[in-house]
Amino acid sequence: MKQLPEAKMVMHHDDPPCKARLHNGVCPECEFVPDMQSLQLWPYCPSCDVPLKNLQCPKCQQTFQAPS
Ligand SMILES: [Zn+2]
Ligand SMILES: [Zn+2]
Repeated sequence: MKQLPEAKMVMHHDDPPCKARLHNGVCPECEFVPDMQSLQLWPYCPSCDVPLKNLQCPKCQQTFQAPS
C-alpha cells in the first residue's frame, strides 16, 4: 500500500461560531489568545495551505493521512 503524505496540522479557534485560523496563537476574529479547551487542530494541505475535506485537498486532490 502506498504511504500517504502527512497533513499539516493548523490551530483554529473552536468557540462557535468562531472557527478562525489562529495567527501566532492569536485569533484574528476575536483578537485574543484562546485557551487550550477552545482550540482545534485542522488538517491542511502542506503545499496549497488550504483545509482538507475528508483528508483530501480540494485544490490539488492529493489525499493525506493524519499525523501520528
Ligand atoms: Zn475566535
Ligand atoms: Zn493541495
